[in-house]
Amino acid sequence: MNTRSVHDLPAYLSPPVHILIDPEVLYTQVTRRVLSRLPGVPWSLSTDQRFGPRAEASANRPELQSSFILYLKHYKGRFLRFCPGTRNYHCCAYRIMHIGENCPLNCSYCILKAYFQDRIIKVWANQEDLFRELELKLRPESSLFRAGTGEFTDSLALEPLTGYTGDLVQFLGNYPNVCLELKSKIIDLSWIKKVSDPSRVLPAWSVNSPEIIKTQEQGSAGLEDRMRAAAFCAAQGFRVCLHFDPIIHYPGWEKGYALAVETIFDYLKPEVIAYLSLGSFRFMPELENIIMRNEPRAKYIYNEFITGLDGKKRLLLPLRLEQFSFIAGHLKDKGLLDRQMYFCMESSYIWTKVLGYTPEALGGLDKHLLRLSFVR
Ligand code: SF4
Repeated sequence: MNTRSVHDLPAYLSPPVHILIDPEVLYTQVTRRVLSRLPGVPWSLSTDQRFGPRAEASANRPELQSSFILYLKHYKGRFLRFCPGTRNYHCCAYRIMHIGENCPLNCSYCILKAYFQDRIIKVWANQEDLFRELELKLRPESSLFRAGTGEFTDSLALEPLTGYTGDLVQFLGNYPNVCLELKSKIIDLSWIKKVSDPSRVLPAWSVNSPEIIKTQEQGSAGLEDRMRAAAFCAAQGFRVCLHFDPIIHYPGWEKGYALAVETIFDYLKPEVIAYLSLGSFRFMPELENIIMRNEPRAKYIYNEFITGLDGKKRLLLPLRLEQFSFIAGHLKDKGLLDRQMYFCMESSYIWTKVLGYTPEALGGLDKHLLRLSFVR
């Protein structure tokens, strides 16, 4: 056994209590890298996570949030997917590059708590299969793709262990028709040195009121740190994306979101923002009970919600409208153009009330965001 201590990890990332490895991926680059960066952490081979050490059913037990099992899996499904949007609202048509599931951070509102009941964080360690699939679907001469890895996990939270994003951006250097968005709440810029064309990668951060970040996004970087990292990326020739999501209604939200907008523009010029989304807190009904049971910090869950056309609960329309108008107004005052903003899963009514037009006026939200992604 390797007796060296675990390399220094960032504060948000404690070492896993155990590493479970599918035998097929024992010698892959990702597995070798993880084992070399976590010397001394016990690991075992298993073809099925159920036969590994028991992962506490702790997704919802705050005291166990920092302990997790890392499962390096031989993933057999499709790596490239469509975002599960709905026809009832305007969807951004994001393509997902699926690299793993679950997350070492602990946001009170995280939808993954409803998806995954355990603290097993999975990484698809058969990267060569991902690259093979991408080779088939992303031929350099074919149409433009806007894709991202931050749907079922934070894009960068495990980067200090896996180096996954570094490998991916290096691979995609051969595909000028692909723009990759990296959505995160932490700071890891180690992948930058592997990027050959900064115009084809969009580093992206969630933004929120500093109070929400502090009380509800355990383990995440503060807003100033996120924006400082975004400014560093801009100085390296990247444009960045920002996501005001989830916007939460709480006493004093006006002050909090005004401060968030101020902070953004303390660090960034409007022209380095490729696009910015606004999304109100919404959730599957299953998540409501999980939050009520396990998250005493999440007072916002007792707001009044209605069930939307997609079956998810969302804040009452007048309150959503008020928050969107307030934040969009502050963003515009700072020089952000309407066309750099979009709403995540909202109706034409909201679009018209806040921005004065619907995505049809932009040629469709999917095409509009694709164009914005590829602007130099
Ligand atoms: S960073 Fe994203 S994926 Fe991770 S816990 Fe927070 S909301 Fe969930």
